[in-house]
Amino acid sequence: MLFRTNAIDDRVRKILVANLYTKPGTLVTGAANGILAALIAASYTTIPLIFETAVILSVIGVLRVVMAIVLPRLMKRSTKWLELLYELGAFSYCFAVGVLGGMTIYFGLPAAAQLLVTCYAIGYGSGMSSRNAGRPTIAVGGMVLTFAPICVALWLVGDLASRALAVAIVIAFLGMMSIAFQIFRTLRDSVAAAETSARLAEKMQVLARTDVVTNLLNRAGLNHFLVEHLSRRNQSPNLALFWFDLDKFKEVNDALGHQTGDRVLCEMAQRLRSQAKPDAVIGRFGGDEFILACDVRDRREAEAIALALLGEISRPLRIDQHRLEVGCSMGIALYPEDGADIETLMQGADLALYHAKVNGRNQASFFDPSMTRDLVRRREIEAELRLAVQRDELSIFFQPIVDLATGKIRAFEALVRWFHPEKGELRPDEFIPVAEETGAIITLGNWITAQAARAAAQWPDDVTVAVNLSPLQIKAPGAALGILSALREARLPPHRLELEITETVLLDHSKQTEDFMAELSAAGVRFALDDFGTGYSSLGYLNKYPFGKIKVDRSFVSGINAGAKSDAIIRAVSEMASRLGMEIVAEGLETVEQVKTVRAAGCTLGQGYYFSRAVPDYLAGMLLTQERDQLNPKRAAG
Ligand code: C2E
Ligand code: CA
Ligand code: CA
Repeated sequence: MLFRTNAIDDRVRKILVANLYTKPGTLVTGAANGILAALIAASYTTIPLIFETAVILSVIGVLRVVMAIVLPRLMKRSTKWLELLYELGAFSYCFAVGVLGGMTIYFGLPAAAQLLVTCYAIGYGSGMSSRNAGRPTIAVGGMVLTFAPICVALWLVGDLASRALAVAIVIAFLGMMSIAFQIFRTLRDSVAAAETSARLAEKMQVLARTDVVTNLLNRAGLNHFLVEHLSRRNQSPNLALFWFDLDKFKEVNDALGHQTGDRVLCEMAQRLRSQAKPDAVIGRFGGDEFILACDVRDRREAEAIALALLGEISRPLRIDQHRLEVGCSMGIALYPEDGADIETLMQGADLALYHAKVNGRNQASFFDPSMTRDLVRRREIEAELRLAVQRDELSIFFQPIVDLATGKIRAFEALVRWFHPEKGELRPDEFIPVAEETGAIITLGNWITAQAARAAAQWPDDVTVAVNLSPLQIKAPGAALGILSALREARLPPHRLELEITETVLLDHSKQTEDFMAELSAAGVRFALDDFGTGYSSLGYLNKYPFGKIKVDRSFVSGINAGAKSDAIIRAVSEMASRLGMEIVAEGLETVEQVKTVRAAGCTLGQGYYFSRAVPDYLAGMLLTQERDQLNPKRAAG
């Protein structure tokens, strides 16, 4: 049991062995004392053996000092060899001291010489036992080798006092041995405890920096490594920071559950790892956002990497029986041109990501300083939008929707306008998304519906009003009730209100949306599918939800999509719409040719600058009166 010191952990052992070599100063004084004592003792006698032993002892003493200084530098890693060489030096020196002491007694040198060497030997043996308590083999072995020759010599001398001294030395040895072991155990346990807590702390740190779902770095880990990465770059090449956001992750999560969502995240992490350079830093920044940073030569290389990453992420993936396509948007910022520190660089990449998302997703955007200006404007809009209603800066304009067969106004679409005292007229495309992002759209939307209903109540009974609804408005608690009470307050029958919603609202197949539409449509409110042709253009929704109208997006009429192909699409959709008893509206009609084309393709209704822009409510009223007067000249005359 006593010698089971090898059972200790390698790391603890390493520390204990390294300890042997610390403070070589004690070795130097020990050796200097020993050499001096040996040479003085040798000078008392002519016996060659004593002289030779003194010389050997001196040589070993000097060698040990040299070894203690040189070896740890030469053999940093080899704990085994360090320990062995130390043992060899210690044992041979101890034995030389012991033998010299024994010889001064055995050969009867003058008492002073005997006393000098023996005292040194006993002192050295005891001293080394405590110095080497970290390696008890050395402590005990050293003591035995020092004390044994002296005890043997004392015993051989044979007188009572000498033998009593021999016995006393043995007893002292046993005491010292037990003390050495006690020190060893205390030392070993405290070193081991310190080691364990150091390792625990290391593990905790790793855990604190790791994302549990994907095993990538988390936000804290990313920050740490990015700061370190930047501080380490000496020749300073460019660094590219790619910030991703999965495009349809929320839908996947909502539709298929969190477990599937987590598997998608893991798969994406795996793809990033396999695609990235070996020195890239990759992490998940909460939710469905990932960050990858790596060295690049220039912007072109960053572009190539971005394309490869986009391609990899957008590859369809299969989870159980589901085949999923999760695209991603990406913002890229370059070091040092877009930011000299991590914080600025991250802000840049975040802004660029935002830009990529707004621009239609599944694309990458490089940071550009103008994005900061856009953001500032957005923040201003966000702050001022809250006050806009109170300050009476918002108003609702109405754009007629015209029957293409008769030219009569069948409805007006309510379009919100913001006349800002300093910025001038703000387009809804600019502030509606901000209102959606901040949630302000719910209050704003309620206000718009109420205003629109109030205006429509003044129109003839056969003219309806169409109001645009944002997804968030539909998901707000009590949304349907709010709309019905606005209708009651305005005294507008529900069938004269039409709600325009886009396909994105239906994507998640949520129960809330279904209930909302069912409740309102039971009360008589109508629904139109807005911006048809811009999203997935899934015809499945037309059957599933109570739509009475499809609005074909204006890009099919006057935009980049217009042409023979879009005619064919409009034709197909209007054919189906008429079979389902729905009406089809062509948006964005600006010329008489366009009107003719869409009418020929089967559209029943039209809307666009050709007929009229959106106008204030009193002008909408005037348009209606004018129209009725033309159709009914008698009334006009009267
Ligand atoms: P939208 O629902 O597709 O509305 C039609 C947009 O096309 C309107 O732009 C309208 O002014 C414009 N437009 C109409 N005829 C023509 C034409 O012949 N040529 C061209 N180039 N454009 C035409 P506006 O008013 O700027 O609204 C933009 C979008 O903002 C709307 O698109 C709608 O998505 C949103 N929006 C507007 N008002 C509201 C609102 O009260 N509530 C909500 N939630 N969204 C609104
Ligand atoms: Ca609309
Ligand atoms: Ca539209």
